[in-house]
Amino acid sequence: MENIVIVGNGQAGVQLVDSLRAEGYAGKITLLGEENQLPYQRPPLSKDYLAAGSQPQSLPLRAASFYRDNTVDSRLGVQVIAVDRRTRTVRLGDGSEVEYSKLVLATGAANRELTVPGSDLAGIHGLRTLADAEVVHARLDTVRSIVVVGAGFIGLEFAAAARQRGIDVTVLEFADRPMGRAVSPAISEYFADAHRRAGVNLQLGDGIASFEGRNGHVTTVVGTTGRSYPADFVLVGIGVEPRTELASAAGLPVQNGITVDAAMCTMDPDIFALGDCANYPNRHAGARTRLESVQNATDQARHTAKAIVGEAEEYAVLPWFWSQQGNLKLQIAGLVRPGDQTIVRGEPATGKFSVFCFRDGELAAVESVNQPADHMAARRLLGQRRSLSTAQARDPEFDFRNYSKLQPAVAG
Ligand SMILES: Cc1cc2nc3c(=O)[nH]c(=O)nc-3n(C[C@H](O)[C@H](O)[C@H](O)COP(=O)(O)OP(=O)(O)OC[C@H]3O[C@@H](n4cnc5c(N)ncnc54)[C@H](O)[C@@H]3O)c2cc1C
Repeated sequence: MENIVIVGNGQAGVQLVDSLRAEGYAGKITLLGEENQLPYQRPPLSKDYLAAGSQPQSLPLRAASFYRDNTVDSRLGVQVIAVDRRTRTVRLGDGSEVEYSKLVLATGAANRELTVPGSDLAGIHGLRTLADAEVVHARLDTVRSIVVVGAGFIGLEFAAAARQRGIDVTVLEFADRPMGRAVSPAISEYFADAHRRAGVNLQLGDGIASFEGRNGHVTTVVGTTGRSYPADFVLVGIGVEPRTELASAAGLPVQNGITVDAAMCTMDPDIFALGDCANYPNRHAGARTRLESVQNATDQARHTAKAIVGEAEEYAVLPWFWSQQGNLKLQIAGLVRPGDQTIVRGEPATGKFSVFCFRDGELAAVESVNQPADHMAARRLLGQRRSLSTAQARDPEFDFRNYSKLQPAVAG
């Protein structure tokens, strides 16, 4: 029996349905998701959704008609609890089973939890799902002082949205710069200043020792430096863990994500994994990578659809990412690594500039702040695996956008 079963109806799972049909697959598709809502976009949840004062609306990934029009057996509120590779079935939480011909794990990631004393007090929240965002949004009407744990993308987006609503916000970050895993020091420094100017109390080099409370509700956050911060609300944004438990229990290799090859296939030729939960050989990084972005989930879904209908090729799409923090739009093309040589083009004081990151003399990534044209040019150039010299990047007269449009030389 032919049935492509997709576990997880987030960004990757829903795009895969779309792409399988676009590739001409006419057989059965079963899409299984444990959340009760129609699949929705996550990025607005830490941005516009929270900044909105009145009743915010979530944005669906596709209209309800999409699932009918594509004859997908889409089931909401069902959790897959086991995969049996011998009988090619998945078992659901209600005890029923579904047979698959191909299985795709698009299970995403779960928020990393804090396990310091007091972590179980009320008023400490994470932000991953629409249900989380509904709770957090409702609380923002009444809170007075917020502590955000972690100055990553989610923490800073949330901090900016809370400031837009006039709330006192402290951000505690254990590392010595914000977004340190993903951006260059120049961007970290710029965003640290910008958030401080917007009134965020950004404390770098301070982790979380414990939470203290009254009547079971958080009142104070105690940092590892011994300092205390008042808080009647805490948002924890300390990263995620890929959801690999189904794959591990089924005997599939897992290491920081479900291990897949360049066609997004696991060691079992009938099981694929993609999106936040997958660890794949990334040609642009020259290493195995697990990425958490809409672009990664979407492009890997397009690629997996091709691999399933029979055209397995190497996945080599350039990674790109964005973050909106208040009125600052950060867009990154390529992957930034510690130690990259950086050249700033444009004037940061104007709020519009780009940072060009070079590795071994080659352009590896471009980070743009409120410069969408630079970002598009960088995607064009890096996507074609072209570079420019550091002298060109340093030259203010050099027309980067036009240069990116030149045709690449055809290899002889
Ligand atoms: C608040 C927030 C803001 C973000 N902002 C940005 C941004 O600005 N830009 C950007 O590029 N990315 C952003 N991201 C990241 C982006 O949303 C993710 O990278 C993307 O959603 C990953 O897609 P996915 O399909 O792999 O996982 P998800 O979209 O997380 O979908 C996985 C789904 O699988 C379900 N599932 C898991 N296990 C099971 C099971 N056993 N049975 C049934 N269902 C299961 C989960 O409930 C979930 O709905 C943001 C994420 C969050 C949480």
